[in-house]
Amino acid sequence: MNQPRRDAAAQLQDLIGFVQAAPSPFHAAEEVARRLVAAGARRVDGTRPLPAEPGGYVLVRDGAVAAWVLPDAAGAGRPPALRIIGAHTDSPGFTLKPDPQDESAGYARARVEVYGGALLNSWLDREVEFAGRVADRRGGVHLVRTGPVARIPQLAIHLHREIGQEGLRLDRQRHTPPLLGIGGDLRGHLAAAAGIDRGDLAGWELITADTQPPRTFGLAGEFLASGRLDNLLSVHAALIALEDLLAAGGQPADRAGEAFIPLFIANDHEEVGSATATGAAGPMLAELADRILAAAGVAGPDRHLALARSTCISADGAHGVHPNYPEEHEPGHRPMLNAGPVLKVNANRRYATDAVGQALWARLVDAAREATGAEIAEQAFVSANHKPCGSTIGPLTATRLGIRVVDVGAPMLSMHSARELTGARDPWLLTAVLAAWWAGR
Ligand SMILES: [Zn+2]
Repeated sequence: MNQPRRDAAAQLQDLIGFVQAAPSPFHAAEEVARRLVAAGARRVDGTRPLPAEPGGYVLVRDGAVAAWVLPDAAGAGRPPALRIIGAHTDSPGFTLKPDPQDESAGYARARVEVYGGALLNSWLDREVEFAGRVADRRGGVHLVRTGPVARIPQLAIHLHREIGQEGLRLDRQRHTPPLLGIGGDLRGHLAAAAGIDRGDLAGWELITADTQPPRTFGLAGEFLASGRLDNLLSVHAALIALEDLLAAGGQPADRAGEAFIPLFIANDHEEVGSATATGAAGPMLAELADRILAAAGVAGPDRHLALARSTCISADGAHGVHPNYPEEHEPGHRPMLNAGPVLKVNANRRYATDAVGQALWARLVDAAREATGAEIAEQAFVSANHKPCGSTIGPLTATRLGIRVVDVGAPMLSMHSARELTGARDPWLLTAVLAAWWAGR
Protein backbone atom coordinates (compact mmCIF):
# COMPACT_ATOMS: atom_id res chain seq x y z
CA MET A 1 0.00 0.00 0.00
CA ASN A 2 2.66 2.46 -1.02
CA GLN A 3 0.26 5.08 -2.35
CA PRO A 4 1.32 8.70 -2.18
CA ARG A 5 0.57 10.06 1.27
CA ARG A 6 -1.45 13.22 0.80
CA ASP A 7 -2.10 14.35 4.33
CA ALA A 8 -0.10 14.87 7.49
CA ALA A 9 -1.97 12.29 9.60
CA ALA A 10 -1.53 9.46 7.10
CA GLN A 11 2.14 10.19 6.72
CA LEU A 12 2.61 10.34 10.48
CA GLN A 13 1.13 6.85 10.83
CA ASP A 14 3.40 5.63 8.06
CA LEU A 15 6.44 7.13 9.82
CA ILE A 16 5.44 5.41 13.07
CA GLY A 17 5.41 2.07 11.24
CA PHE A 18 8.73 2.82 9.57
CA VAL A 19 10.51 3.70 12.82
CA GLN A 20 9.25 0.48 14.40
CA ALA A 21 10.49 -1.53 11.42
CA ALA A 22 13.90 0.14 11.69
CA PRO A 23 15.42 -0.40 15.16
CA SER A 24 18.97 -0.33 13.69
CA PRO A 25 20.71 1.14 10.61
CA PHE A 26 20.73 -2.32 9.01
CA HIS A 27 16.98 -2.67 9.46
CA ALA A 28 16.44 0.87 8.16
CA ALA A 29 18.44 0.18 4.99
CA GLU A 30 16.56 -3.08 4.38
CA GLU A 31 13.18 -1.47 5.02
CA VAL A 32 13.91 1.33 2.54
CA ALA A 33 14.92 -1.27 -0.05
CA ARG A 34 11.86 -3.43 0.62
CA ARG A 35 9.50 -0.51 0.18
CA LEU A 36 11.17 0.83 -2.94
CA VAL A 37 11.08 -2.61 -4.55
CA ALA A 38 7.36 -2.73 -3.70
CA ALA A 39 7.07 0.67 -5.39
CA GLY A 40 8.65 -0.66 -8.58
CA ALA A 41 12.39 -0.14 -8.08
CA ARG A 42 14.89 -2.92 -8.85
CA ARG A 43 17.31 -3.97 -6.13
CA VAL A 44 20.85 -4.12 -7.46
CA ASP A 45 24.03 -5.71 -6.17
CA GLY A 46 26.81 -3.16 -5.71
CA THR A 47 29.46 -5.75 -6.58
CA ARG A 48 28.13 -5.97 -10.17
CA PRO A 49 27.89 -3.39 -12.95
CA LEU A 50 24.90 -1.09 -12.53
CA PRO A 51 22.09 -1.54 -15.07
CA ALA A 52 21.75 1.12 -17.77
CA GLU A 53 18.03 0.72 -18.45
CA PRO A 54 15.82 3.60 -17.35
CA GLY A 55 13.98 3.03 -14.07
CA GLY A 56 14.30 3.03 -10.31
CA TYR A 57 17.09 1.22 -8.44
CA VAL A 58 18.04 0.60 -4.85
CA LEU A 59 21.28 -0.67 -3.36
CA VAL A 60 22.01 -1.65 0.25
CA ARG A 61 25.54 -1.61 1.60
CA ASP A 62 25.78 -2.65 5.24
CA GLY A 63 23.86 0.00 7.21
CA ALA A 64 23.63 2.44 4.30
CA VAL A 65 21.19 2.55 1.40
CA ALA A 66 21.11 4.41 -1.90
CA ALA A 67 18.39 4.68 -4.53
CA TRP A 68 18.10 6.49 -7.84
CA VAL A 69 15.97 6.88 -10.93
CA LEU A 70 17.79 6.57 -14.23
CA PRO A 71 16.28 8.75 -16.95
CA ASP A 72 15.57 7.67 -20.48
CA ALA A 73 18.76 8.38 -22.44
CA ALA A 74 16.78 9.11 -25.61
CA GLY A 75 16.19 12.83 -26.03
CA ALA A 76 18.73 13.76 -23.39
CA GLY A 77 20.34 17.16 -23.83
CA ARG A 78 23.19 18.10 -21.53
CA PRO A 79 24.59 15.44 -19.19
CA PRO A 80 21.92 15.01 -16.48
CA ALA A 81 22.54 16.67 -13.13
CA LEU A 82 22.20 14.69 -9.93
CA ARG A 83 19.52 15.87 -7.54
CA ILE A 84 20.68 14.25 -4.32
CA ILE A 85 18.88 13.97 -1.00
CA GLY A 86 21.16 12.78 1.79
CA ALA A 87 20.34 11.57 5.29
CA HIS A 88 21.66 9.03 7.80
CA THR A 89 20.37 5.75 9.19
CA ASP A 90 22.07 5.66 12.59
CA SER A 91 21.05 7.06 15.97
CA PRO A 92 22.83 7.27 19.34
CA GLY A 93 22.47 4.44 21.85
CA PHE A 94 24.48 1.61 23.38
CA THR A 95 26.18 -1.11 21.34
CA LEU A 96 26.90 -4.60 22.61
CA LYS A 97 30.53 -5.43 23.35
CA PRO A 98 32.26 -8.58 21.97
CA ASP A 99 32.10 -10.38 25.32
CA PRO A 100 28.48 -9.39 25.84
CA GLN A 101 27.56 -10.46 29.34
CA ASP A 102 28.74 -10.15 32.91
CA GLU A 103 27.32 -10.83 36.33
CA SER A 104 26.83 -8.44 39.23
CA ALA A 105 25.14 -9.10 42.57
CA GLY A 106 23.44 -12.16 41.15
CA TYR A 107 22.07 -10.44 38.02
CA ALA A 108 23.11 -10.99 34.43
CA ARG A 109 24.02 -7.71 32.72
CA ALA A 110 24.91 -6.71 29.17
CA ARG A 111 28.31 -5.17 28.49
CA VAL A 112 27.69 -2.08 26.40
CA GLU A 113 29.58 0.79 24.84
CA VAL A 114 28.14 4.28 24.19
CA TYR A 115 27.46 4.95 20.49
CA GLY A 116 27.49 8.63 19.52
CA GLY A 117 26.28 11.54 21.62
CA ALA A 118 23.52 9.72 23.48
CA LEU A 119 21.65 11.49 26.29
CA LEU A 120 22.45 8.72 28.74
CA ASN A 121 19.72 9.61 31.25
CA SER A 122 17.06 9.11 28.59
CA TRP A 123 17.89 5.41 28.41
CA LEU A 124 17.18 4.77 32.09
CA ASP A 125 14.11 2.76 33.07
CA ARG A 126 13.19 1.73 29.53
CA GLU A 127 12.75 -1.82 28.31
CA VAL A 128 15.06 -2.02 25.35
CA GLU A 129 15.99 -4.54 22.70
CA PHE A 130 19.24 -5.12 20.85
CA ALA A 131 18.94 -4.78 17.09
CA GLY A 132 21.33 -4.95 14.15
CA ARG A 133 23.18 -7.76 12.48
CA VAL A 134 24.94 -10.94 13.52
CA ALA A 135 27.64 -12.66 11.44
CA ASP A 136 28.19 -16.41 11.61
CA ARG A 137 31.43 -18.33 11.16
CA ARG A 138 30.61 -19.16 7.52
CA GLY A 139 30.28 -15.47 6.71
CA GLY A 140 26.49 -15.46 6.75
CA VAL A 141 24.91 -12.22 7.96
CA HIS A 142 21.58 -12.15 9.80
CA LEU A 143 19.33 -9.23 10.68
CA VAL A 144 18.46 -9.61 14.34
CA ARG A 145 16.21 -7.96 16.88
CA THR A 146 15.87 -9.48 20.31
CA GLY A 147 12.64 -7.96 21.58
CA PRO A 148 12.61 -6.46 25.10
CA VAL A 149 15.45 -8.11 27.01
CA ALA A 150 17.20 -5.31 28.87
CA ARG A 151 16.80 -2.23 31.03
CA ILE A 152 19.15 0.18 32.80
CA PRO A 153 17.43 0.57 36.19
CA GLN A 154 17.88 3.90 37.91
CA LEU A 155 18.97 3.90 41.55
CA ALA A 156 16.11 4.58 43.98
CA ILE A 157 16.13 8.10 45.41
CA HIS A 158 16.32 6.65 48.95
CA LEU A 159 19.76 5.28 48.12
CA HIS A 160 20.79 8.41 46.26
CA ARG A 161 19.76 11.43 48.35
CA GLU A 162 22.49 13.66 46.91
CA ILE A 163 20.79 13.58 43.51
CA GLY A 164 18.57 16.44 44.71
CA GLN A 165 21.57 18.78 45.05
CA GLU A 166 24.02 17.34 42.53
CA GLY A 167 21.71 16.22 39.78
CA LEU A 168 22.12 12.86 38.10
CA ARG A 169 25.70 11.87 37.35
CA LEU A 170 26.12 8.69 35.38
CA ASP A 171 29.48 6.97 35.09
CA ARG A 172 29.48 5.59 31.55
CA GLN A 173 31.17 2.35 32.58
CA ARG A 174 29.75 1.63 36.04
CA HIS A 175 26.17 2.84 35.80
CA THR A 176 25.05 1.94 32.28
CA PRO A 177 25.19 -1.87 31.95
CA PRO A 178 21.60 -2.98 31.27
CA LEU A 179 20.04 -5.65 33.43
CA LEU A 180 19.33 -8.82 31.40
CA GLY A 181 18.02 -11.39 33.84
CA ILE A 182 18.74 -13.52 36.84
CA GLY A 183 21.10 -15.87 35.12
CA GLY A 184 20.38 -16.47 31.44
CA ASP A 185 22.48 -16.55 28.30
CA LEU A 186 22.54 -13.55 25.97
CA ARG A 187 24.71 -15.34 23.39
CA GLY A 188 22.18 -18.14 23.20
CA HIS A 189 19.40 -15.59 22.83
CA LEU A 190 21.24 -13.86 19.97
CA ALA A 191 21.93 -17.15 18.21
CA ALA A 192 18.28 -18.13 18.48
CA ALA A 193 17.20 -14.72 17.15
CA ALA A 194 19.59 -15.20 14.21
CA GLY A 195 18.46 -18.78 13.63
CA ILE A 196 21.96 -20.21 14.03
CA ASP A 197 23.79 -22.40 16.53
CA ARG A 198 25.33 -20.65 19.51
CA GLY A 199 28.78 -21.92 18.53
CA ASP A 200 28.44 -20.32 15.07
CA LEU A 201 28.22 -16.77 16.40
CA ALA A 202 31.24 -14.87 15.10
CA GLY A 203 30.42 -11.20 15.61
CA TRP A 204 27.73 -8.57 15.81
CA GLU A 205 26.83 -4.94 15.49
CA LEU A 206 23.86 -4.54 17.80
CA ILE A 207 22.48 -1.34 19.25
CA THR A 208 19.83 -0.64 21.87
CA ALA A 209 16.38 0.41 20.69
CA ASP A 210 13.49 1.48 22.90
CA THR A 211 10.63 -1.01 22.65
CA GLN A 212 7.92 1.48 23.57
CA PRO A 213 6.01 2.32 20.37
CA PRO A 214 6.00 5.92 19.13
CA ARG A 215 2.87 7.89 19.96
CA THR A 216 1.25 11.24 19.38
CA PHE A 217 0.38 13.45 22.31
CA GLY A 218 -0.52 17.05 23.20
CA LEU A 219 -3.88 18.79 23.72
CA ALA A 220 -4.51 18.62 20.00
CA GLY A 221 -2.30 15.60 19.31
CA GLU A 222 0.21 18.00 17.81
CA PHE A 223 3.38 16.19 18.92
CA LEU A 224 5.05 12.91 18.08
CA ALA A 225 7.25 11.10 20.62
CA SER A 226 9.54 8.45 19.13
CA GLY A 227 13.02 7.03 19.18
CA ARG A 228 15.38 7.63 16.24
CA LEU A 229 13.60 10.65 14.73
CA ASP A 230 17.17 11.87 14.20
CA ASN A 231 17.40 10.77 11.49
CA LEU A 232 14.79 8.25 10.45
CA LEU A 233 12.32 11.11 10.05
CA SER A 234 14.44 12.43 7.16
CA VAL A 235 15.11 8.96 5.73
CA HIS A 236 11.37 8.33 5.73
CA ALA A 237 10.57 11.73 4.18
CA ALA A 238 12.93 11.03 1.28
CA LEU A 239 11.55 7.51 0.97
CA ILE A 240 8.00 8.84 0.60
CA ALA A 241 9.14 11.41 -1.96
CA LEU A 242 10.85 8.64 -3.95
CA GLU A 243 7.85 6.31 -3.69
CA ASP A 244 5.65 9.11 -5.02
CA LEU A 245 8.10 9.75 -7.85
CA LEU A 246 8.11 6.06 -8.82
CA ALA A 247 4.31 5.92 -8.60
CA ALA A 248 4.02 8.95 -10.87
CA GLY A 249 6.26 7.28 -13.48
CA GLY A 250 7.58 9.40 -16.31
CA GLN A 251 10.84 11.17 -16.72
CA PRO A 252 12.34 13.33 -13.96
CA ALA A 253 12.90 16.69 -15.66
CA ASP A 254 13.55 20.19 -14.40
CA ARG A 255 11.65 23.39 -15.22
CA ALA A 256 13.64 23.75 -18.45
CA GLY A 257 12.68 20.22 -19.49
CA GLU A 258 16.16 18.80 -18.92
CA ALA A 259 16.40 15.31 -17.47
CA PHE A 260 18.02 14.87 -14.06
CA ILE A 261 18.84 11.88 -11.87
CA PRO A 262 17.10 11.79 -8.47
CA LEU A 263 19.53 10.11 -6.07
CA PHE A 264 18.87 9.27 -2.44
CA ILE A 265 21.60 8.25 -0.02
CA ALA A 266 21.26 7.43 3.65
CA ASN A 267 24.74 6.98 5.10
CA ASP A 268 25.58 5.15 8.30
CA HIS A 269 27.83 6.32 11.15
CA GLU A 270 26.94 10.02 11.07
CA GLU A 271 26.62 10.04 14.85
CA VAL A 272 30.24 8.92 15.26
CA GLY A 273 31.86 11.22 12.73
CA SER A 274 31.11 9.55 9.36
CA ALA A 275 34.71 8.37 8.76
CA THR A 276 33.79 4.85 7.60
CA ALA A 277 33.22 2.96 4.35
CA THR A 278 29.48 3.65 4.52
CA GLY A 279 29.78 7.05 6.22
CA ALA A 280 29.58 10.37 4.41
CA ALA A 281 33.34 10.96 4.78
CA GLY A 282 33.96 7.75 2.82
CA PRO A 283 33.84 7.26 -0.94
CA MET A 284 30.41 5.63 -1.19
CA LEU A 285 28.44 8.53 -2.66
CA ALA A 286 31.21 9.82 -4.95
CA GLU A 287 31.80 6.35 -6.39
CA LEU A 288 28.13 5.68 -6.76
CA ALA A 289 27.62 9.03 -8.50
CA ASP A 290 30.35 8.04 -10.97
CA ARG A 291 28.85 4.64 -11.60
CA ILE A 292 25.31 5.97 -11.97
CA LEU A 293 26.45 8.67 -14.39
CA ALA A 294 28.39 6.02 -16.35
CA ALA A 295 25.26 3.85 -16.47
CA ALA A 296 23.42 6.89 -17.81
CA GLY A 297 26.04 7.17 -20.56
CA VAL A 298 27.88 10.08 -18.98
CA ALA A 299 31.64 9.50 -18.87
CA GLY A 300 34.94 11.34 -19.06
CA PRO A 301 34.78 15.14 -18.91
CA ASP A 302 30.97 15.01 -19.20
CA ARG A 303 30.95 13.65 -15.66
CA HIS A 304 32.31 16.96 -14.44
CA LEU A 305 29.68 18.83 -16.44
CA ALA A 306 27.00 16.75 -14.73
CA LEU A 307 28.49 17.30 -11.27
CA ALA A 308 28.94 21.03 -11.88
CA ARG A 309 25.14 21.30 -12.10
CA SER A 310 24.41 18.86 -9.28
CA THR A 311 23.11 19.74 -5.81
CA CYS A 312 22.47 17.84 -2.60
CA ILE A 313 19.85 18.55 0.02
CA SER A 314 21.16 17.17 3.31
CA ALA A 315 18.19 16.42 5.56
CA ASP A 316 18.83 15.91 9.27
CA GLY A 317 17.15 16.84 12.53
CA ALA A 318 17.04 20.55 13.44
CA HIS A 319 16.68 22.08 16.90
CA GLY A 320 13.26 23.55 17.56
CA VAL A 321 13.18 26.23 20.24
CA HIS A 322 12.93 24.66 23.71
CA PRO A 323 10.29 26.32 25.93
CA ASN A 324 12.29 25.73 29.13
CA TYR A 325 15.60 26.89 27.67
CA PRO A 326 14.78 29.61 25.14
CA GLU A 327 17.95 31.47 26.17
CA GLU A 328 20.05 28.68 24.68
CA HIS A 329 18.84 29.68 21.21
CA GLU A 330 19.77 32.58 18.96
CA PRO A 331 17.01 35.11 19.80
CA GLY A 332 16.12 35.87 16.18
CA HIS A 333 16.14 32.22 15.06
CA ARG A 334 13.80 30.07 17.05
CA PRO A 335 12.29 27.34 14.86
CA MET A 336 8.82 26.22 15.93
CA LEU A 337 7.46 22.72 15.61
CA ASN A 338 4.69 22.21 13.03
CA ALA A 339 5.53 25.48 11.23
CA GLY A 340 7.83 24.24 8.48
CA PRO A 341 11.17 22.56 7.83
CA VAL A 342 14.26 24.41 8.95
CA LEU A 343 17.15 25.71 6.87
CA LYS A 344 20.46 25.34 8.75
CA VAL A 345 23.18 27.94 8.47
CA ASN A 346 26.62 28.17 10.11
CA ALA A 347 29.45 30.64 9.46
CA ASN A 348 32.08 27.95 10.04
CA ARG A 349 30.39 25.62 7.56
CA ARG A 350 29.36 23.00 10.04
CA TYR A 351 26.28 23.31 7.86
CA ALA A 352 26.95 23.66 4.14
CA THR A 353 24.08 25.99 3.19
CA ASP A 354 25.05 29.00 1.05
CA ALA A 355 23.02 31.89 -0.37
CA VAL A 356 22.27 30.12 -3.64
CA GLY A 357 21.16 27.07 -1.66
CA GLN A 358 18.89 29.30 0.42
CA ALA A 359 17.28 30.60 -2.76
CA LEU A 360 16.78 27.04 -4.01
CA TRP A 361 15.15 26.12 -0.70
CA ALA A 362 12.85 29.19 -0.83
CA ARG A 363 11.77 28.16 -4.33
CA LEU A 364 11.01 24.62 -3.17
CA VAL A 365 9.02 25.88 -0.16
CA ASP A 366 6.94 27.99 -2.58
CA ALA A 367 6.36 24.94 -4.76
CA ALA A 368 5.37 22.84 -1.73
CA ARG A 369 2.88 25.50 -0.60
CA GLU A 370 1.36 25.44 -4.06
CA ALA A 371 1.23 21.63 -4.21
CA THR A 372 -0.26 21.10 -0.73
CA GLY A 373 -2.18 24.31 -0.03
CA ALA A 374 -0.48 24.23 3.38
CA GLU A 375 1.04 27.16 5.22
CA ILE A 376 4.76 26.49 5.34
CA ALA A 377 6.96 28.98 7.17
CA GLU A 378 10.54 29.59 6.07
CA GLN A 379 12.47 28.97 9.27
CA ALA A 380 16.23 29.08 9.76
CA PHE A 381 18.41 27.71 12.53
CA VAL A 382 21.71 29.31 13.44
CA SER A 383 23.48 28.74 16.76
CA ALA A 384 23.77 31.39 19.42
CA ASN A 385 27.38 32.60 19.49
CA HIS A 386 28.08 31.02 22.88
CA LYS A 387 27.04 27.57 21.62
CA PRO A 388 29.04 25.15 19.52
CA CYS A 389 27.27 23.96 16.40
CA GLY A 390 26.48 20.34 15.54
CA SER A 391 27.09 19.08 12.04
CA THR A 392 25.62 16.77 9.41
CA ILE A 393 26.64 14.82 6.36
CA GLY A 394 26.20 18.11 4.44
CA PRO A 395 29.71 19.61 4.70
CA LEU A 396 31.31 16.19 4.12
CA THR A 397 29.23 15.64 0.99
CA ALA A 398 30.06 19.13 -0.29
CA THR A 399 33.75 18.50 0.33
CA ARG A 400 33.87 15.04 -1.24
CA LEU A 401 31.84 15.83 -4.35
CA GLY A 402 32.54 19.53 -4.77
CA ILE A 403 28.86 20.27 -5.21
CA ARG A 404 26.43 22.69 -3.58
CA VAL A 405 24.76 21.28 -0.47
CA VAL A 406 21.80 22.73 1.41
CA ASP A 407 21.41 21.63 5.05
CA VAL A 408 17.80 21.39 6.21
CA GLY A 409 15.69 19.35 8.61
CA ALA A 410 12.50 18.96 10.59
CA PRO A 411 12.51 20.79 13.94
CA MET A 412 12.62 18.62 17.04
CA LEU A 413 13.20 18.69 20.79
CA SER A 414 15.17 16.19 22.89
CA MET A 415 17.57 15.43 20.05
CA HIS A 416 19.70 12.34 20.86
CA SER A 417 17.29 11.23 23.57
CA ALA A 418 16.07 7.64 23.42
CA ARG A 419 12.67 9.22 22.77
CA GLU A 420 12.76 12.41 20.75
CA LEU A 421 9.94 14.83 20.01
CA THR A 422 8.78 16.46 16.80
CA GLY A 423 5.60 18.08 15.51
CA ALA A 424 2.88 15.87 14.07
CA ARG A 425 2.88 17.88 10.83
CA ASP A 426 6.65 18.19 10.52
CA PRO A 427 7.33 14.90 8.67
CA TRP A 428 4.70 15.78 6.09
CA LEU A 429 5.95 19.36 5.63
CA LEU A 430 9.53 18.19 5.09
CA THR A 431 8.37 15.59 2.59
CA ALA A 432 6.35 18.18 0.66
CA VAL A 433 9.44 20.32 0.11
CA LEU A 434 11.72 17.37 -0.73
CA ALA A 435 9.07 16.03 -3.15
CA ALA A 436 9.02 19.40 -4.95
CA TRP A 437 12.76 19.04 -5.56
CA TRP A 438 12.41 15.64 -7.21
CA ALA A 439 9.27 16.75 -9.04
CA GLY A 440 11.57 19.07 -10.98
CA ARG A 441 10.79 22.41 -9.30
ZN1 LIG B 1 21.33 13.46 12.77
